[in-house]
This record gives sequence, C-alpha cells and structure tokens, in this order.
Amino acid sequence: MVSDVASFRRDFPILGRSVHGRPLTYLDNAATSQKPQAVIDAISHYYSFANANVHRGVHLLSEEATVAFEQAREVVARFLGLPESRGCVFVRGATEAINLVAESWGRAHLNSGDEILLTALEHHANIVPWQIIAEKKGAKIVVAPVTARGEVDLEAYQKLLSSKTRLVAFAHVSNALGTINPVVKMTQLAKAVGATVLIDGCQSAAHFAVDLPALGCDFYCFSGHKTFGPTGIGVLWGRPELLDQMPPYQSGGDMIRKVDFAGTTFREAPERFEAGTPDIAGVIGLAAALNYFQPRRELAHAHEQKLLQVATEKLKTIPGLRIIGEASQKVSVISFLIEGGHPHDIGTLLDADGIAIRTGHHCCMPLMKHLGISGTARASFAFYNTLEEVDRLAASLQRIQKMMV
Ligand code: PLP
Repeated sequence: MVSDVASFRRDFPILGRSVHGRPLTYLDNAATSQKPQAVIDAISHYYSFANANVHRGVHLLSEEATVAFEQAREVVARFLGLPESRGCVFVRGATEAINLVAESWGRAHLNSGDEILLTALEHHANIVPWQIIAEKKGAKIVVAPVTARGEVDLEAYQKLLSSKTRLVAFAHVSNALGTINPVVKMTQLAKAVGATVLIDGCQSAAHFAVDLPALGCDFYCFSGHKTFGPTGIGVLWGRPELLDQMPPYQSGGDMIRKVDFAGTTFREAPERFEAGTPDIAGVIGLAAALNYFQPRRELAHAHEQKLLQVATEKLKTIPGLRIIGEASQKVSVISFLIEGGHPHDIGTLLDADGIAIRTGHHCCMPLMKHLGISGTARASFAFYNTLEEVDRLAASLQRIQKMMV
C-alpha cells in the first residue's frame, strides 16, 4: 500500500512543491482535488494538437474533437456503472447541475402546495436553487434533521415524506462532516411516496465506486474538479426519459432540432441541455481524470479509510479538540474545533506549517446553525495523502492547541 501511495503521489506534480519552506501537505481535497499529470497532458494535448469546435465541422480536427468529446461521455457512463451514456449531460459542475434540475424539472413538475424535502446537511448548492424554484412555484421546502453524530435522522426523514413530496434532494456524502448517507434506503423511501430523487454526488465520486443503477435515483451529479479533473466541468446524470420531457435550461446552438421564427424544436438529451460551445478541453480532461482514477478506486478507498481511522484516533488524543461529525459511515473528512481557538486561526497556523485545510461554514450555514456552531476546521484526505502527513497534521495541531490555552 505504501509503495502504491508513493507511486500515486508521483502522478501529481503539485504534491512535490513546498509551501512556506515546508513540504506541501494538501488536506483540502473536499474543496478541490489535485490533478494528475495525465489530466494536465490530456488538456495540453487537446489544445496543442486537436483544438476545434465539436459537432459542427466537416474537417478532420473537428471530427477528432467530436470523437474525443463523445468518447468522454462513454467514460463517464462507465465510471457511474451506467449501461449507456445518453443521460450524461456535461455541465459546469454540481452547482449548475442542481440549478438545471431545479429550473427545468421544477418548472415542469412543481405546483403550489408541493413539497421539496432536503436534509439539514446540504451544501448551499443543494438548497438555494430549490428555494428559488419553490418561491416561483409556491412549493414548500421541508428539511429532515441531522443527529448530533451528523447522520440524517432516518425516522424523521421518513415521517416527513408524504404524497405532497414531489422531490427529494440529498447529498451522497456530506462535504462538511464526511457522513455517507444511506442513499439507497433514502431513495427507496422517497420512491415509495412517488417522489423524484436527486443525489448530489459531489463528495462521493472521488472516494468510492458509484453504481448509479443500484442507487435507484432519478438524477445524480458531480463536479470534475473534486474528482481529479479540471474546474468548470461536471456531470448531471438524469434518467433519459425524464430528461427528454424537461424543458431546456439554456438555449442556443447545438441543442435545437429546427429553428424557425414561427417556433423552435429541441433535441433529446443530452444535447437538449448542452447549448452553445461546451468546455471541450474540460470534458477531455475529465475523461482523463476518470480513466486515471477508476482502476485505482478500490485501493484508494481502502487507503483513505485507513487515513481516516488513524487521523481520527490521533486527533482525539489532543486536549480540547472536538471532532464534529462522527457518523458510523464516513469518507476521509474530519471537521473539528479546538477549545479557545477560532477555526480561521487554526487554518492560518497550519498553513505556516505547509498544511492546507479549510475553515469556516463549508457552504453549509444551515448545518452549522443546526449544530450550534459557526464553523469548523476541516481536514479532507485524498488517496494520495500519507500516514506521514497525518502525523504532520497531528503534531502541528498539538503545538497549536498549546498556543490556544
Ligand atoms: N455539493 C456538495 C456536497 C459540495 O461539496 C459542493 C462543493 O463543495 C457542491 C455541491 C458544489 O460544487 P461546485 O462548486 O463544484 O459546483
């Protein structure tokens, strides 16, 4: 395992740099992951040798770009365990994916009095688009609470489901706490009342294999940049038959069948939701990232679980340090507080030691309010992190804690 990690690390050039004279210890992977050389090379190769617009040209470069673009869709489908790629729509990221579903599906399906069920641990990206469409359509947002351990209260969740529930949206994994939600069960319960289900997979895709058909949801999304790919690209998957019935989200070139001033008809999914020139380099970079990660996924998950276990044990020995979120199923994310210390101060002091973490509300203000805190310090590990880095974090925090008393 150690030699596997060493070889993973060599694939990520940034991990070789130093920060403030110390080796970089990058523990902000939940915010964005680092990129392997394979991704950097794929993007560079596309711009150096194959740059052309897709779907339109009859010349060779355009054909090559189109083939690479559409092959990337197949890579995404394979990554998500899907039998076909038609439901995979390229978007800017999870935020755009959820906005797309809220605006388009919501416009067509939500009515006054309908309920949208969310959970208290959602990222703002899975709250605000629903608030906006709920206001437009006279629907109501209902929120399933989270227990003190940071798990969705399943009993309460089930009680909140009713024939009024039109849509349920929840994270596969909490970005703030690392909780892995029981999404199959949550989907089954939502389906039992006839609701449509969206799973925000932003924090799951980079940690373990996602088999979408087994989840049973209607929509799933993730961001490329959290899955070792470029920023500005992500995926919305929707059941094709559902996508085909949804009105366009944005309109323009490439998404139309026929345009006439008397009226316009639209293509089916996925093109219906890909108006204009897409982020071709981003799509190609994303495919390279998924091709890189998929064969390493199982090893990565086992290694991350080890990092989580060791880091949790070590951090718990630090006096005054409290871990926020102790769900029984977690990915390698540890949120914590140190008595007498503001999370931002902890983050700044760690940075001086070359350790990058995230501090604040993690775009989960309602969750922080629910837990009675204003924010946390969060260390989030990827498969290229090492036990030595866990030691470095623990040693630095020991020192910082002494400064806070
Ligand atoms: N959902 C979750 C759970 C996230 O962690 C994030 C980003 O942190 C998002 C959605 C939004 O992702 P993006 O900013 O890539 O669109």
